[in-house]
Amino acid sequence: MNPGKPHARSAFLQAGHVPRKRFGQNFLVDPGVIHGIVAAIDPQPDDNLAEIGPGLGALTDPLLERLDRLHALEIDRDLIVRLKRRFHPERLIVHTGDALAFDFGQLEPDLRVAGNLPYNISTPLLFHLARFADRIRDMHFMLQKEVVERMVAQPGSPAYGRLSVMLQYRFHLEKLFDVPPKSFNPSPRVWSALVRLIPRPAAERALCDIATLEKVAAAAFSQRRKMLRNTLKAQFAEDELAALGIAPDKRAEDIPLAGFIALANARTKAELLAKVHPENNLKEPV
Ligand code: SAM
Repeated sequence: MNPGKPHARSAFLQAGHVPRKRFGQNFLVDPGVIHGIVAAIDPQPDDNLAEIGPGLGALTDPLLERLDRLHALEIDRDLIVRLKRRFHPERLIVHTGDALAFDFGQLEPDLRVAGNLPYNISTPLLFHLARFADRIRDMHFMLQKEVVERMVAQPGSPAYGRLSVMLQYRFHLEKLFDVPPKSFNPSPRVWSALVRLIPRPAAERALCDIATLEKVAAAAFSQRRKMLRNTLKAQFAEDELAALGIAPDKRAEDIPLAGFIALANARTKAELLAKVHPENNLKEPV
């Protein structure tokens, strides 16, 4: 992606608004990048799309050129006033408040979600959205490049961790392109990247209790340099790990998603058995 020159229109739109750090306000000012994001989303007129954090409308405007209507979730009341002044309420449906608390279940299914996300809430927001994955068609987000690299990381990479395991269980992930700091105003300190998330259909996902998967991944990655025989010793004996095809001398970063699913399912089974036969509960719950 070739970043273009900051657009005079962006400066005009920002006039009078002081970016708020607490809301992660780094506004896109690079027409080349804006075009690249909209092209990646490829909105069709009757798509059901929600933009998180429309801000001054850098993406909202070109999205609405292609869509009949768009939902927008914004927390900053000053920006909401501007958005409402600028866009017709039948075309831009503004939801005021915190996207982290928003019930995406109230929007029609086959939902598409997009946004240049406030970096300070990006990880909890991804986990919040994962709860609605069954209603979502796809998501396109601008995030810190380092976070995107952790999301898409494969086993064996230092970036592979809890975020990779939890999101890859739910979604197909694809890093699309990198974006330099100068494409934003104010410029963040770090590079950004656009990522696409497509929910995996239930039939394709191995059955697994997400809360248990989260706990096993958290324990395994709690000390990433240590072997699983140590990090998981409260939950699994070494022979139990071996029986699941997981060598106890491996580290969490060597274990593929399927291995974490096997571990989580073994825990779920052990906990169920412990409820039925409490005398056999030799291991701590995760
Ligand atoms: N989309 C605009 C752009 O690309 O120029 C603005 C992006 S800026 C990085 C993040 C936007 O998210 C801001 O408009 C900010 O006010 C909004 N925001 C921050 N925290 C939010 C939250 N918890 N819920 C909804 N919007 C939020």
